[in-house]
Amino acid sequence: MDRGVVLVTGGGRGIGAAAARRAAAAGWAVCLTYREDEASAGAVAEAIRAAGGTAATVRADVAAEDDVLAAFAAADALGPLTALVANAGIVGPRARVDQLTADRIGRMMAVNITGTFLCCREAVRRISTAHGGPGGAIVLVSSAAARLGSPGEYVDYAASKGAVDTLGLGLAREVAAEGVRVNVVRPGIIDTEIHASGGQPDRAQRLGPAAPMGRAGTADEVGATIVWLLGDDAGYVTGTAVDVSGGR
Ligand code: NAP
Repeated sequence: MDRGVVLVTGGGRGIGAAAARRAAAAGWAVCLTYREDEASAGAVAEAIRAAGGTAATVRADVAAEDDVLAAFAAADALGPLTALVANAGIVGPRARVDQLTADRIGRMMAVNITGTFLCCREAVRRISTAHGGPGGAIVLVSSAAARLGSPGEYVDYAASKGAVDTLGLGLAREVAAEGVRVNVVRPGIIDTEIHASGGQPDRAQRLGPAAPMGRAGTADEVGATIVWLLGDDAGYVTGTAVDVSGGR
């Protein structure tokens, strides 16, 4: 089934890679972006092609507007865009608010908030029927941290995801009558490499058992929810946030 094209930011690893694989299996041509790990992105694209799907990769820092424009141009080359998974995001090393530098706060907000906004802007310009587009869906990857605040760990990250939640809420209502559904997914503790990037490689193993379900989640469990929200089975779902957090 040809569902058009989905752009997945940060689709080379972790949750984005799982969403990219599942979206391809469900019939989307996938344009996946990465920031520096070209090999991982290439391996995801190759696996999609080996399974009979269509995939392209493009290097793009979502915080850089020119990169975002280039990523969407690469998606356009695959066909009409019908979906966006705004997944790319970063954490930082454990720090209290009274230890944060302006550089760190700025980068956190640039990637997690500005990057998500820029991708939403470009997606709406292509998908919305008000712009002559075919209609479709946007999923924003937030975090349970937006509800919990991440005290003593990374309140800047949690606050950036709070902004993503609100972006989803407002954008969903802004474009609801233009054939675009917008939803947010809030993962809990998911076993990916993001924790190592924040200097806590054992975080999922350490904190997973404290979740009500007694374990960390997998990237594929989040990818499944993302792709459900993209598809017709979620046809009357917009402006909501789905927690994929094992009850956390
Ligand atoms: P991950 O394994 O670290 O993968 C992150 C992906 O984002 C990578 O593909 C990376 O590209 C890309 N990326 C990072 N910075 C980027 C930038 N500036 N521009 C473009 N791409 C960038 O992370 P993950 O755990 O899958 O997380 C994905 C999303 O889920 C994030 O938004 C994260 O905040 C959210 N989340 C994760 C968890 C969790 O426990 N894992 C929980 C809640 C929310 P490279 O491969 O090139 O480095």
